[in-house]
Amino acid sequence: MAERWRQPFASSEAVRRRMSAQRREGTGPEVALRHELHALGLRYRLHVAPVPSLRRKVDVVFSRARLAVFVDGCFWHGCPEHGRRHHGVNGWYWPDKIARNRTRDLDTTARLEAEGWRVVRVWEHDLSSPAGTRAVALEIRALWQRATGGGAPPSGQL
Ligand SMILES: [Zn+2]
Repeated sequence: MAERWRQPFASSEAVRRRMSAQRREGTGPEVALRHELHALGLRYRLHVAPVPSLRRKVDVVFSRARLAVFVDGCFWHGCPEHGRRHHGVNGWYWPDKIARNRTRDLDTTARLEAEGWRVVRVWEHDLSSPAGTRAVALEIRALWQRATGGGAPPSGQL
């Protein structure tokens, strides 16, 4: 079989449509995390660029806390635990696309931090169970509380 990952990134119309829907609405794990955050009373903006000059979109944005949360898919963002599983048994390396994603992720984090933002990157695998998702949401709430001076998040505030 040809090297599958060398095929065009979105090789069919169906894949292209699915991927663009994911960018708009988020993946399943990201949606699950958002539901937990919402249940904890946190409010956020989705898929916006919090620093307009950077033009980098963030999955979940807490503007007042200056907190940026990314949910990184294990495969496309090169998770050290699960990235390699997809590359077969004859050794592995990150396909160019994944290497580029990782470089860009690090760059995005550095640029946001330089603008005074706190950046949290969550691996998709941390959201593979309800308990795991809950734990991540609680960590994010703790960061939110620290950043905003503690207390319960007032409803409707970002
Ligand atoms: Zn993973």
